[in-house]
Amino acid sequence: MKLKRPDESGRFGEFGGRFAPETLIPALDQLAAAFEKAWDDEHFVDEYRRVLRDFVGRPTPLHEATRLSERLGVRILLKREDLAHTGAHKINNAVGQVMLARDMGKPRVIAETGAGQHGVATATAAAYFGLECDVYMGEVDIERQALNVHRMGMLGAEVIPVTSGAATLKDAVSEAMRDWVRTVETTHYVIGSVVGPHPFPWMVREFQKVIGEEALVQLGGTMPDDIVACVGGGSNAIGIFYPFAGLGPRLIGVEAAGLGIASGRHGASIGAGTPGILHGTKTYLLQDAEGQVLEAHSISAGLDYPGVGPEHAFFAETGIARYESATDEEALAALELLTRTEGIIPALEPAHAIAWIVREAEALAGRTVLVNLSGRGDKDVEQLARMEP
Ligand SMILES: *Cc1c(COP(=O)(O)O)cnc(C)c1O
Repeated sequence: MKLKRPDESGRFGEFGGRFAPETLIPALDQLAAAFEKAWDDEHFVDEYRRVLRDFVGRPTPLHEATRLSERLGVRILLKREDLAHTGAHKINNAVGQVMLARDMGKPRVIAETGAGQHGVATATAAAYFGLECDVYMGEVDIERQALNVHRMGMLGAEVIPVTSGAATLKDAVSEAMRDWVRTVETTHYVIGSVVGPHPFPWMVREFQKVIGEEALVQLGGTMPDDIVACVGGGSNAIGIFYPFAGLGPRLIGVEAAGLGIASGRHGASIGAGTPGILHGTKTYLLQDAEGQVLEAHSISAGLDYPGVGPEHAFFAETGIARYESATDEEALAALELLTRTEGIIPALEPAHAIAWIVREAEALAGRTVLVNLSGRGDKDVEQLARMEP
């Protein structure tokens, strides 16, 4: 398989790389070598494809959102990652990395999780392949996503609460990395997005690009005008963007504007951040003048991260994709609109992508827009019910 980006040192232009503690370098080297070998090995690739088909339920459908299209005057196609096993795109990556852990002879995997989706996906893949699994999760998120915490327990994973910092996703990643430094001989760290030190951003993109590859086939030779996806760390977005990059469609990533960019309470790392280093990679992030990383805010736990994958930083810098944002309020309205017009309750994360289309509907009139519906909203129902007056 041809691998054009990143370069040898894991750089996407000036972004990416490997800013990791000394103790992790051998494990990162081992992982990069194991992945490169596996991705070139037809037995590994065949098994991966078979598990995606028979266990995950791929290919996920491409859904013509007729009533929503009529309402907005924009033709909208939904890539239904919400129909993948466990309810989001995260499983594509979790299956691939747990297979790699098995092949590297590591009996234990760890993961961080925000919304709980990546924790559930990793616990699910670990159960399927018979590996031990511990999941780091911020206490605030444990509270927001109680159902997913329970699901992980049922799947045999242990959920380890993280109380440092804001007790959300960034802190869970930091704790998982600390665990990995101590246990690297027996443990693989299944990172949940296209973030972290090389080879993670590249490897996770390779596991997620199946989304865009399937969509290309399902479109049967036609091209959408625009492709829209929400961006937390950026894995569902890169997964649908990557196979289309350079083929014509505009690529639009939608970050969380939270309470509004001006409020300072948001998760728009590209839109309102600056270049810096977080979790082992150079990318755009939310930081103060001294380089202290700021807390992100979003109504959706999955977009509540102050950094973004380095390949998105590269896409933004080079104009390959553009990055917009939608507020909590806009996402809530879009969630309701999609639910009522299509009978699909989306997760709060992809509701941000729909929200951008709603806001831009006039400018998008007559165009065909492919949206990555990255996950289903079941996990958010309890949170939404609590908000009702
Ligand atoms: C985790 C999650 C996201 C955000 O992660 P990305 O890496 O940006 O894709 C988006 N949507 C859903 C449904 C998620 O579970």
